[in-house]
Amino acid sequence: MTTYATDWRADGACRSADPDLFFPIGTSVVTVSKALRICAGCGVKQQCLDFAMQNGEMNGVWGGTTAEERLRARRALLRRARRTHRSLQEALAS
Ligand code: SF4
Repeated sequence: MTTYATDWRADGACRSADPDLFFPIGTSVVTVSKALRICAGCGVKQQCLDFAMQNGEMNGVWGGTTAEERLRARRALLRRARRTHRSLQEALAS
């Protein structure tokens, strides 16, 4: 089993924010925009995004991205991995 470092979470700018902003029920552009603004000033944005991509987090806002953005990025990585005969994990690491 692969484990990922999660100690960066304690430094997240969302730590004191309403979790509903990051995991809204339904599609609320206003809510997601508020979450993305918080992410924009977050000091652990890259670690958060890496964690979400490595773990296939397909819900909510992570690392300044929406679920749809991560899905598109994941599909692009999969296409690139197939073209270069690498695994998704290798593509994520490059
Ligand atoms: S990037 Fe956004 S979701 Fe991730 S820890 Fe920072 S504020 Fe929270």
